[in-house]
Amino acid sequence: MGHGLFINLPATGHVNPTLAVVRELITRGERITYYTAEAFREVVTQTGADFRAYQRLALGDEARLATNFVRLAAKLIEAGEPLIAEILEDGHQPDYVITDSMTVWGICVARILDVPTVASSAVFVFSSAVARSRPRFLVQSVGMMVPALPDVFAFQRAAARIRERYGIEPPGLMDTFTADAPLNIVYTSRGFQPNGEQFPEHYTFVGPSIGERPGGEELPDLSGERVVYISLGTIFNERADFFRMCFEAFGGTDLQVVMAVGTRLDIGSLGAVPENIVVRGYVPQLDLLPHVDAFITHGGMNSVHEGLWFGVPLLVIPQMLEQWLVGQRVVETGAGLLLENEAVTAAALRKAVRHLLDEPAFREHAGRLGESFRAAGGYRRAADAILEYVT
Ligand code: UDP
Repeated sequence: MGHGLFINLPATGHVNPTLAVVRELITRGERITYYTAEAFREVVTQTGADFRAYQRLALGDEARLATNFVRLAAKLIEAGEPLIAEILEDGHQPDYVITDSMTVWGICVARILDVPTVASSAVFVFSSAVARSRPRFLVQSVGMMVPALPDVFAFQRAAARIRERYGIEPPGLMDTFTADAPLNIVYTSRGFQPNGEQFPEHYTFVGPSIGERPGGEELPDLSGERVVYISLGTIFNERADFFRMCFEAFGGTDLQVVMAVGTRLDIGSLGAVPENIVVRGYVPQLDLLPHVDAFITHGGMNSVHEGLWFGVPLLVIPQMLEQWLVGQRVVETGAGLLLENEAVTAAALRKAVRHLLDEPAFREHAGRLGESFRAAGGYRRAADAILEYVT
């Protein structure tokens, strides 16, 4: 029985896809110690892992909402310094480390402990080829450097401190988003990953890792209705204006609408809720999706994969650049439509959803992608690859 240290970000989108993998590793006899934020205690504990909540976590809203990758990288490495110390002080002697690909402190801990390292990538893997093949992505990424120059220096200073203190080379600024561990588990299929065919074999594309997941508020019976599900995920979701526009777009129509508005927004502040719309903070998305006919999503990696897994056509309304890239893939693969924030009006929402519902090709393409995701092997293939590499 091996002992793995799993080190993750305090973010739903990064924790969710790992849960089934961890449960599978434990079923096969591994012992996993899992570090993330206190909020994930229940879901992580239910996998059978030994849960550890960060005690010195200082990642505020500024980091949570950073749409500038450079700024985010600086926040991550600065917040990571005390967490490296915290994890090391716990004195583990693991056989291997699995670290989220963006969790700078996890990569540092793996290098300090000098054990086999697996990166768990909850986002598309970025590479210069990905950026080059999408000019808008390249231009915006380069444009982020200029306003974030102080963050570039902050990153370098934190990296120097880590180098000095632990005698290892921390990941470079752009490495934060281009994981290249000896084994990389990526929760998409090679076909859906932009430029997927260009990644070498130590990138294992396992597809979304969908297993049972507890949590979420109860929903009414939705059978017999055409259901539209609306969610902007768990991070960029404080958009009362957008949710009110959805009321205007779909209130009084023949559609049953379920809206998950997140746990930070006061539902009362949205005003009168139309009769055909159900508003919740956090819904059991995986239980809901099999009943959904169209999904309006922010283009979060998990939401998009989960929607496609169940063959649901998508209307992607990206809230940041990474989600735009995900939305591009949805459009390129024919599984849905993309609407830029600036183009969102009640009429545009209604028109796009009608198009998704009336044109069967969207559902067909979404269904085909869902099948390709299942064929990618999911959490079992992830566990196979991890165990083959670490033992
Ligand atoms: N989620 C959920 N219920 C909700 C909202 C979100 O279960 O009401 C889950 C969703 O299934 C997904 C994750 O939260 O697994 C959100 O991750 P995603 O990558 O889509 O977006 P993020 O929150 O990271 O922006």
